Amino acid sequence: MGTAVHPELILSLKKFGVEDAKTCFNCGNCTAVCSLSTESAPFPRKVIRYLQIGAREKLMQSPEPWLCYYCGDCSDTCPRQANPGEVMMGLRRYLTSLYDWTGISRLFYTSKLFEVMAILFVAALVGLGFFIYHGPMLTDRVALNVFAPNTVIEILDIVMLAVLSFFLLSNAYRMFKGIIGDPDQYPELSQSGKQQFQNRIFRGIPLPLYLREAKEFFLHFTTQKQFNACGTASQRKQWLIHLLIMTGYSSIFLLVVVGIRWFQRDEIYPLWHPIRLVGYYATFAILYGTTYAIIGRLKKSKPVYEHSHSSDWAFLILLWLTTFTGILIHFTRLLALPLSTYYIYVIHLMIAVPMLVIEVPFAKWTHQLYRPLIQYLIRVRERALNSTL
Ligand code: SF4
Ligand code: SF4
Repeated sequence: MGTAVHPELILSLKKFGVEDAKTCFNCGNCTAVCSLSTESAPFPRKVIRYLQIGAREKLMQSPEPWLCYYCGDCSDTCPRQANPGEVMMGLRRYLTSLYDWTGISRLFYTSKLFEVMAILFVAALVGLGFFIYHGPMLTDRVALNVFAPNTVIEILDIVMLAVLSFFLLSNAYRMFKGIIGDPDQYPELSQSGKQQFQNRIFRGIPLPLYLREAKEFFLHFTTQKQFNACGTASQRKQWLIHLLIMTGYSSIFLLVVVGIRWFQRDEIYPLWHPIRLVGYYATFAILYGTTYAIIGRLKKSKPVYEHSHSSDWAFLILLWLTTFTGILIHFTRLLALPLSTYYIYVIHLMIAVPMLVIEVPFAKWTHQLYRPLIQYLIRVRERALNSTL
């Protein structure tokens, strides 16, 4: 089966942050020094070659960009300054846009104007919603659940969760089809093996195989352990930062989206109440992680922070501001300042909602799902292949 080539691909990827790939002359140094590259999934040279020849479909079937954790070793040793580490980062943005069937991700990554307007548009909708529908603003005490009843917020949360999950999971399904679906990706298979594998895919790999390997997904999702796989001190720190941001984000997501009726209460919980402690942990984890990443990007302190795409800034700034305004609400409630609490609450949601609506299904947050999903699919794929060889 032939592969369609798209010669314009390398140029069109500039907007995704892929700048230097054309200077690569395929020496393979980068693959040799990468401690995460394996015989069955060698990178980054192979995918850079796909990029150079414009093999878009091959890229869509390649898990390798998601296996790179941007330590920068390959960029340091590249004799052509092709910056393979950054090429892999740009490819992750590009693949995110390929998986996304709505086209929003592509617009978000390639147009700063769209990026800013999309954030402002969703923020304005939230502000307008509050302007029209907010409840009474009691001033004798802080009554957040009169101003914005948690039962109403809970319904809106569930609707938002359903919509975001639909987009994110349908995009993830396209990734799944790309990674698992084409038997031509597997040179080790005989012709009959390919046919057998294809039949299995179309009839479905047996469900028990997916279920048996699901632990692989949860392990990588909860620990993000591959960030630490390079084994250097710098990468260990990077792993910790990612773990803090991911666990903080997931904790607050659960509190706000699933547990809002317990989280948003007008009475102040005692200091050692579990909900309050989880809220404090999430606040600390996100604030520390995002501040570290923002300072790192400003100082360009390590390879992963040297080249910042506008979407990297959007994610970090929205997340930092969401956390900061959350802290302000906490203090205005403790200080019994009703009007300040209501106004900051609206500002908080005008930042948090665009961050969730855009980042979760279409931009940076997708990595939290795609990376463990790839590890899981590779494992399922290996098991399926072993049973057909
Ligand atoms: S990116 Fe650099 S090190 Fe890697 S194959 Fe190309 S020229 Fe060689
Ligand atoms: S940045 Fe590090 S993990 Fe990524 S391809 Fe280069 S050497 Fe490998």
